[in-house]
Amino acid sequence: MARLVMKFGGTSVATVERIKNAARHVKREVEAGNEVAVVVSAMSGKTNELVAWCKEAAPLYDQAEYDTVVASGEQVTSGLMAIVLREMGIPARSWQGWQIPIYGSDAHGSARIVDVDGAGIIAGFDRNREVAVCSGFQGVHAESRRIVTLGRGGSDTSAVALAAGLKADRCDIYTDVDGVYTTDPRIVPKARRMNKVSFEEMLEMASLGSKVLQVRSVEIAMTQRVPTYVRSSFDDPENPNPGTLICDEDDIVEQQIVTGIAFSRDEAQITLRRVADKPGVAAAIFGPLADANINVDMIIQVVSDDQATTDITFTVPTADYERARTLLESKHDTISYQEIQGATDVVKISAIGVGMRSHAGVAARAFRALAEKGINIRAITTSEIKFSVLIDAAYTELAVRTLHSLYGLDAG
Ligand code: ADP
Ligand code: ASP
Ligand code: MG
Repeated sequence: MARLVMKFGGTSVATVERIKNAARHVKREVEAGNEVAVVVSAMSGKTNELVAWCKEAAPLYDQAEYDTVVASGEQVTSGLMAIVLREMGIPARSWQGWQIPIYGSDAHGSARIVDVDGAGIIAGFDRNREVAVCSGFQGVHAESRRIVTLGRGGSDTSAVALAAGLKADRCDIYTDVDGVYTTDPRIVPKARRMNKVSFEEMLEMASLGSKVLQVRSVEIAMTQRVPTYVRSSFDDPENPNPGTLICDEDDIVEQQIVTGIAFSRDEAQITLRRVADKPGVAAAIFGPLADANINVDMIIQVVSDDQATTDITFTVPTADYERARTLLESKHDTISYQEIQGATDVVKISAIGVGMRSHAGVAARAFRALAEKGINIRAITTSEIKFSVLIDAAYTELAVRTLHSLYGLDAG
């Protein structure tokens, strides 16, 4: 007997029919003698609709009320899943975040999980092996007693945190693909499914744009040692495939130099032209951005012909682009630049692999391959196990496919 957490994402619970199919996967595990907690997302498209309603109600809506609204999508699916399971003769009940409780920080809209109390769910396991159907994406702030949500894609994090809290043997993330691929299979049909991927690489892939798992879910899986699988709810419930295991680097026998390619459209570029080249200028630019909670990612500085001024280019999240520009315009007197330029039609393409630690020249090969395709690189960053390039968004697919082939990742 094992204790499992089974998470079903939006597409896997998109209709009552899909919920019934997901329930068959649950039934299989229950009948195998396991204790099961299920975590569900909202029906696909539902959260977007709820977010849009908040914006329609007031452009600068209150974040706590936003959480009240968007958390409702998961409440519907947890109730429906419990109804379907009971109809199949399986003891089950729904649990909202506040009922479990899953305690979150008070950062409304992107709360962190601070604690999970699994006692009530475990009592149900002990009583009659009752399946706990939990709403993902939501928790409660202990002091204010208000509902909080965990940021988009947060049900993955609910599932892994619940698995850690319940000391589960495994967390299965059921989605619309049968595992983690070398890149998004919707962009590259030749992408290959991996049997295993290391925590470190998955963390980088998720934070560089592979939305198959929310970044925080991978962090928790890694630090709390939760064996986590990504697998398909579209498989035959009687005969499923195991999917991709997220595990330690040492557990992977055949390591590639590059394991995956990720891309993110959530990045915008800002360039300050002809900034006075003197000590303190970087602080004058990036200090106010940091104070405004705007994350700066890539930075490049180019000394211009006159030796007295410099051009500084950097990227910020697309959502913060307008705010960053306005802020820098308001600091024109202290920073003294000649012109501010920006672009939002850019994409960041990244290659990830622990093998980069021990191999030189991995990024250089990419620069050459992209140049041969006529793709101009606007900015570059590198770190121990990844490098990223910023390019025009129009070349996204070409660039991802080029790098995917270059590093030998194409299937068959
Ligand atoms: P869910 O609703 O189940 O949470 P998501 O849409 O959040 O599902 O995540 C699954 C999607 O992630 C897939 O349909 C796929 O297009 C995308 N994806 C991006 N990168 C990858 C990758 N490297 N491997 C697998 N899927 C990926
Ligand atoms: N329903 C939420 C979202 O769409 C959480 C999730 O699906 O993981 O972001
Ligand atoms: Mg998701």
